Amino acid sequence: MLTEMPNKTTRTDETIGEHIARAGVSRRDFLMFCTKLMAAAPIGLGLTQHANASQVARETAKARRLPVIWLHFQDCTGCTETLLRTSNPDLGELILHLISLDYHETLMAAAGTAAEDALRTSMTQNAGKYVLVVEGSIPRKDGGIYMKIAGRPAISVLEETAAQAAAVIAIGSCASWGGVASADPNPTGAVGVGAIVTGKPIVNIPGCPPNPYTLLGTVLQYARTGSLPALDAEGRPRFAYDRDIHQHCPRRAHFDAGRFAREFGDEGHRQGWCLYHLGCKGPETHAGCSTRHFNEMPDVWPIGIGAPCIGCTEQKLAFRVPLFHVIPIHDAKPGELYAPVQWPQGKWSAPSAGVAGLAAGALLGAGYAASRKFSKTPGDDSAPGAATGNKAPGAEADNQAEKPE
Ligand code: SF4
Repeated sequence: MLTEMPNKTTRTDETIGEHIARAGVSRRDFLMFCTKLMAAAPIGLGLTQHANASQVARETAKARRLPVIWLHFQDCTGCTETLLRTSNPDLGELILHLISLDYHETLMAAAGTAAEDALRTSMTQNAGKYVLVVEGSIPRKDGGIYMKIAGRPAISVLEETAAQAAAVIAIGSCASWGGVASADPNPTGAVGVGAIVTGKPIVNIPGCPPNPYTLLGTVLQYARTGSLPALDAEGRPRFAYDRDIHQHCPRRAHFDAGRFAREFGDEGHRQGWCLYHLGCKGPETHAGCSTRHFNEMPDVWPIGIGAPCIGCTEQKLAFRVPLFHVIPIHDAKPGELYAPVQWPQGKWSAPSAGVAGLAAGALLGAGYAASRKFSKTPGDDSAPGAATGNKAPGAEADNQAEKPE
């Protein structure tokens, strides 16, 4: 529940530093938050780029506490849950101090007319300055009658609230492009924010749910600099969606070695092998889940607990392609199809060739000396083990490993 009554006058000139000092937030908690923000956005976010935790804290403290209006439409409230579900309760509380969350139907104490008054008050006092966060898809079919708030279709509430906003953030896959409610046959005609709102900067933060630090990083950068982070073609912040899950998946070594789970609960699944044949969409899904886990706990993310990635950050995958359907891979290929490791420019430079030659010569010399030392037969020049044809442990097994079709 909100720690401040939402219909109190919001001091839009108050900085985050002033507010957290007044609220008694410890510097340790604040620094911990800034460290986590740096880990979530190591590159691509102006606030954290080339900075250490103290610098991020200093810059964040200078930022104005942005008024945020948060609307709920056709959703499960999972995005709100992920924002507040931290393993450290003080951190969850701190998040509410960083932004001025003026209206949020599922968190605010007010209800009914009082809640509607809070919305109007914030819109009037902060016209053109507030950030509108939308959670959930918007039903558009039959004039939008499938969802009403205070007697008005959700689509009208969105249009009116967005018209006065400085920027709009669509949080979650539903608000980004329809999500689960838009799955075929899409009975309510559910769409994302971008299909309704025009003429405003819109940031999509898809995920089911997305990582909360992506939202906080975006909002805090906007509060500090007045600019939004760079976006990709799908309107997602590049700092959080620039790589696919497969690139940093902890099961990637099993994929490359051809070790796959074939059924839930089989030996491969129990061994923690790759989930590609169980329908994992990681190779085609851009998100940071493999390195930024949820609830701030190690391995708390789908693949970490043995469930294949469903591609929830991709418009064309989640809720469009069946969960366990195996998809073709475009970029990542199994190990045996990789090009050989090469010099970046495809050629050797003279100095590096010289250094490599010296190193190779030294190694050959050392190898020869070792073979002489360890050989049991006088005059035997072969390296140890060569005569018996010994192989590295597991060499047979590796050769038999299967590759995805
Ligand atoms: S296919 Fe999925 S489980 Fe396998 S390595 Fe890629 S992302 Fe990880």
